Amino acid sequence: MQDPTARRQAITAGAPPRERLSAWFGCPQPGCAAERYPLGEVVYRCRRCGGLLEVQHDLAPLRETPAAVWQQLFEKRYGSTVWPYGSGVWGKREWVNPAVDDANVVSCFEGGTNLFWAERFGRELGVSDLWIKQCGNTHTGSFKDLGMTVLVSQVKQMLADGQPIRAIACASTGDTSAALAAYGAAAGIPTVVFLPHHKVSLAQLIQPVANGARVLALDTDFDGCMRIVQEVTADGTIYLANSLNSLRIEGQKTISVEICQQFDWEVPDWIVIPGGNLGNVSALGRGFDLLLELGLVDRRPRICVAQAARANPLYEAYRTGYREFRPQEAQATAASAIRIGNPVSYDRAVRTLQAYDGVVEQASEQELADAAAWADRAGTFNDPHTGVALAALVKLVRAGTVRPHERVVVISTAHGLKFAEWKVAYHERALAEFEPQHANPPLALPNDVTAVRRALDDLL
Ligand SMILES: *Cc1c(COP(=O)(O)O)cnc(C)c1O
Ligand SMILES: [Zn+2]
Repeated sequence: MQDPTARRQAITAGAPPRERLSAWFGCPQPGCAAERYPLGEVVYRCRRCGGLLEVQHDLAPLRETPAAVWQQLFEKRYGSTVWPYGSGVWGKREWVNPAVDDANVVSCFEGGTNLFWAERFGRELGVSDLWIKQCGNTHTGSFKDLGMTVLVSQVKQMLADGQPIRAIACASTGDTSAALAAYGAAAGIPTVVFLPHHKVSLAQLIQPVANGARVLALDTDFDGCMRIVQEVTADGTIYLANSLNSLRIEGQKTISVEICQQFDWEVPDWIVIPGGNLGNVSALGRGFDLLLELGLVDRRPRICVAQAARANPLYEAYRTGYREFRPQEAQATAASAIRIGNPVSYDRAVRTLQAYDGVVEQASEQELADAAAWADRAGTFNDPHTGVALAALVKLVRAGTVRPHERVVVISTAHGLKFAEWKVAYHERALAEFEPQHANPPLALPNDVTAVRRALDDLL
């Protein structure tokens, strides 16, 4: 057995030491280049222009490590038990947040999720190289873990440095609060979550309850919760965990690195991602930006953001060539995590879509439900948000925008088990508005072998 120092040495050799790295909150607006704040400061918006900040890295020390060495390091770290490098996020820690000491990293071994080769579904649809990135196969069942590990770790570091933070809070459509509550509980940091009453699934409600968060169910929608949480966190003693906090984006951007790594550093032609508040598509773009910048890949994928037709402000803006953006009051959709009418990361997302030759598609309730169920028939178990992305892909393939030989990765954002009630209703034909195309209701039979034989003869 190798001794611990040798094992650590093996997965860090060739990377710049942490002391040489630096990252800070900076403003992306051209006129605000001088606005910089330490990652340990409680600040979410530029003090000069009021825009959202981004985490910026000193690229000089990162560039000194050749691309091939980064690739080897990331591969060696994947799944390792050398703390905290086995996490899909902390395996890329030099690119994410160099300011956190090992002892303050709060990780549940997030990331490292599988790519499902959707061969049978792809063949039926007419694309031969279709993959589903199963981001729901992680600690709390959604990709929100990727960002939350970075944010909660940063807060633990700030507490260790003596900052007076009482709790971490977020408004949530369900998955952010599940992740915050779990990481807060793992770290021993109090959490407060603001949920729109009766608008999240049972699984999403019980997760923060079980993890000991203070759960406040407000009589409003997500956008209403967002307004209130920004007010109550304004004095800085309650730290805000929504994705306007760009620390989360830094963790989520590792998804791009992980996808390329899983394809031996080949870039897919297309990535289809469901979008609500639009932090995740921005993160996807930032991940590819850094991969390109540091030479690990040499081309860009195209990106499609998929929205529910009932909460589609980005889609509407796309149709005007982004000349016009109108916030909406988002309508009820099965894809409840993207029921957002005024996305906080709209500007970031448009920048990403413009840089990645992007398109925006939308899906009706029937389209998203049928697409999810259709792909389920080929072995997946999709949540409604993945359904939105799959429905968008169906449209892109049928329109000839995505061509048959192109490699496509659909980002599955959550585990289908979080949405069991909705899936049951679909298969029992209990969704009032439409007739499902792929319903497969259970068959109730008497306790009688003849009846069972007859039923089997009918079914098979
Ligand atoms: C948060 C979430 C999204 C949307 O991500 P944004 O960054 O808000 O665009 C999509 N699907 C699921 C399951 C989510 O939890
Ligand atoms: Zn600014």
